[in-house]
Formats: sequence, structure tokens, C-alpha cells
Amino acid sequence: MMRFVLALLLAAGMAPAKDTLDIYWIDVEGGAATLIVTPDNETILMDAGWPGFDDRDPKRIVSVLENEVGKKKLDYFIVSHFHRDHVGGLPGLAALIPIEKFIDHGDSVEIGWNERADTLWKSYLAVAEGKRMQISPGDRLPLKNTEFTFVAARSRFIERPLVDRGPNPACRDASAKAADRGENGKSVGFMIRIGKFEFLDLGDLSWNFELETACPVNLFGEIDLYQVTHHGMHMSGPPAHIAAIQPLVAVMNNGPRKGGRPETYELLTATPSLEDLWQVHRAVESDAGRNTDERLTANLGETDQCKGHWLKAAVRPDGGFSILNSRNGVSRSYNPR
Ligand SMILES: [Zn+2]
Ligand SMILES: [Zn+2]
Repeated sequence: MMRFVLALLLAAGMAPAKDTLDIYWIDVEGGAATLIVTPDNETILMDAGWPGFDDRDPKRIVSVLENEVGKKKLDYFIVSHFHRDHVGGLPGLAALIPIEKFIDHGDSVEIGWNERADTLWKSYLAVAEGKRMQISPGDRLPLKNTEFTFVAARSRFIERPLVDRGPNPACRDASAKAADRGENGKSVGFMIRIGKFEFLDLGDLSWNFELETACPVNLFGEIDLYQVTHHGMHMSGPPAHIAAIQPLVAVMNNGPRKGGRPETYELLTATPSLEDLWQVHRAVESDAGRNTDERLTANLGETDQCKGHWLKAAVRPDGGFSILNSRNGVSRSYNPR
């Protein structure tokens, strides 16, 4: 009987409801492509990796969408910010599958900075014009049942903490870095909440802006699943921010030679709340011991022989979640706080 119902649903072009919210970190070699599939089968992709390489990154995204999710379109594409490792792959992706809506923080602030930035911007408009939606912190994505809140955009943040935790003691020793007026600091960030579970993704938000979200008031509270900001580069991820969110599990979308900095590794693994760090790639330049357990790493070698294995989180309605490594089938389960 079940099989018959399933066949009917598939014949009608409808995917059957499932009970987990799934998050895929698709390997785009040090860029970003985070795919979210809600329990109602809504599909949201933040970022599409790099341009070029015979559309390597768009093809990897479509492969996960078709083969793992069973979908041939995206409901929402979110641009975290206008850099090549995030929107470079978008024109290639838009040529392969339909995308309903495009969400961004507004126009690129790097227009006129150089030819590359201008080309990137024009190629974005060519696919997104007429379907754009500019969001502000506090806005929610209009999903059926999933609480998906934008918490950062264009260097502004939600005004009040989602959960009030009082002053953050780690702010005493916080130190600033050089100001960032470019696109990283404009990154769109969002939080998904399911029961006690929270997922936070801040794109490539840079150091001083992350500090603003953590000091003097911790805006985000405790985060169970944290996408390590900016691929684990050291121009993001100040200690006061990590102390504020106290991640339980962190997923780092680094490439073999991009992100995955030793400073970021040391800070995260010294954080008492952290149970596991998962990596999309082993950082090949990092000293031995500055990479997570190989079993929790999706890809071990250099880009030119990379198979593009992904990591997947599946979050149940009670907030419990597990993470799966597609390379070796290793999976671990966690209870939210
Ligand atoms: Zn980036
Ligand atoms: Zn960037």
C-alpha cells in the first residue's frame, strides 16, 4: 500500500513528506554551497560555489539535488555575498535548473572596485533580475512550517537577542581587527530553529561584525550546529563570538588550501562545548594535528582528484540531529541543548 501511495505521489510530481530537515554541505573546493531541504520538501540553497572548471560546482549541486533529494528545482537561492566562491557558480546552476526566487542583502558594495567584481555583479543580474528579494535582519523566509530567520545582512543584525542570556563575559578580552568595507562584512546570515535545535550560518561575515553580534550582548545564544564562518579563515571567528554561541557541533566548508586555518582549528577544539568538528576537506597545508578526525572529513586530497563528497545533517522534529559523511558512511548523533 505504502509503495502504491509513493508511486502515485511520484507520478504526480510531488515528493512525499519526510520528517527531517536536511542540510547538505556540498563540496565546492573552498567556496560555499549549503543546501537546506525542509520537512515539507522546500529547497533553499545558500551560495553556488565557483565559476569555471566545466561547471564543476553547479554540477555537484544538481547531482545532490537530483540524486539525494529527488528535486529538479530550487525554491530559494540565497546569496550570502557577492564573491566568486559564493555566486560564481550561479549562472551555470541557473542554466541547469529553474530557480524561483533570489534573496540578497541588496546590491553588491564592490561595484566599480574592479572588473572582476563588475562582471560578477552583471552575471548575477542576468539571472536574478525581476526575481530578487532584499531581506533585512529579523525577516523570515516564508516556509510552510520551518522557522528560518535572517539574523545578519549588509552589516546589520537582529536588534534583540533571540534568547536573552545577559552580558557575554568573553567580551572583556575581545580585540578588533582592521575594518572591512567589502562584501564579506555584508554577508547574509540566518538561523534555523527546530525545538531546542539551532543552526547558524553567517556566510563570510568578518571578525569585527561577528564581535558586534557577540558583544556586549550575545544576540544568537547557544548554537547546536554551527557552519564555521568564512571557511575557517582567521579573518573571521573571534574568540568572543565562539564563546557566545558555544557550538555543540561545527561544520567547516574549507578547501584543501583555503580556510581551515590552524588558529580556527585550535580555537574551536579548545571550546568546551564542542563535541565534534566536521570538515568538508582536510586542510593539506595544515600541520599534523590541526585537522579533525579523518572519519569526520568528507574529502582528503587535493582539488584535482577530488570526488566532491558531501556532509549531511538530518534534524528530527524534536531537535535531535545526526551528521553523515558521504565518503565513508560514518554518522554521529547529537542531542540539542
Ligand atoms: Zn568565501
Ligand atoms: Zn567572501
